[in-house]
Amino acid sequence: MPEILVVGSVAYDDVQTPFDRRRDVLGGAASYFALAASRYAPVHVVAVVGEDFREGDIERLRAEGIDVAGIERRPGRSFRWHGRYDYDMSAAETLNTDLGVFADWHPVVPDGKRDVPYVFLANIDPDIQLDLLDQVGRPQLIAMDSMNYWLEFKRDAVATVMSRADVVCINEGEARQFAQTFSIIRAAREILDLGPTALVVKRGEHGAMLFLHDGGVFWSPAYPLEKVQDPTGAGDSFAGGFVGHLAAVGRTDPVELRRAVVHGTVSASFAVETFSVDGVARATPEAVDERYRLLRSLVDIGAGVVGDTGSRSE
Ligand code: AMP
Repeated sequence: MPEILVVGSVAYDDVQTPFDRRRDVLGGAASYFALAASRYAPVHVVAVVGEDFREGDIERLRAEGIDVAGIERRPGRSFRWHGRYDYDMSAAETLNTDLGVFADWHPVVPDGKRDVPYVFLANIDPDIQLDLLDQVGRPQLIAMDSMNYWLEFKRDAVATVMSRADVVCINEGEARQFAQTFSIIRAAREILDLGPTALVVKRGEHGAMLFLHDGGVFWSPAYPLEKVQDPTGAGDSFAGGFVGHLAAVGRTDPVELRRAVVHGTVSASFAVETFSVDGVARATPEAVDERYRLLRSLVDIGAGVVGDTGSRSE
């Protein structure tokens, strides 16, 4: 089974929604990603935590079969993020970001992991993402994510990471911010012109769009959920299902990329049902399959309808 290497934040989050609040809960882009992707393939995490990080939280990742040998512990505070959502639970408003031990950290890919074929650069300082890329051989697939914080402070470095990635995954607002345009289509063109073969634009409850360099476009609606408790980690869990599926099948052709978008959507649906990583950790293979099937049927007009061209004049 092809393996996955991820670098990104492992953090403590303080999350407020209009209905509830949780402080000091396990979060971070790499944590969500690893839990989601580990449902599909073995995952190795490269990250750093501070002295305040609870051993039980590392153990929680280990207990899910995730390789945590690349998570360093250093003197200082762990990464902390404080965010808030409004009533529509769409984009998070960041109230505080404390990089802690991530501020002056250089990732070290553990021995024997330099040739892992699937690499995910989860949300973190783009200079850390580039540092990791310089340590790996030529993986079969490099995917990356970023967010408004880094686009604001380190836009050029984020653009360099994009140019070295095969797949870029970002959310709608960040695609607009990056390309300085309202049009998602124009933003997609601009990002794909940097070099990646595929771009996934995550649009929250409006689903996710896949844009291919050769002009192909695909869309998956979001999984319809009655209860959304905390959208934090939706994007990272999406990436976990997406990259996890590609690693599990060992192919990245357009059909598998489309399937990967649906798997990403399913992973994200588990993440948002609870605070912290509990939902994504609870997703069983059976539950994943069931949601995958439902999502497919959501946009299937009717299996075997011959000549369904959409034309009313037939
Ligand atoms: P998502 O909701 O998928 O975009 O990601 C949310 C996770 O990203 C949270 O668990 C945070 O700990 C983490 N996060 C927030 N801001 C940053 C940042 N500037 N860099 C890296 N990770 C971050």
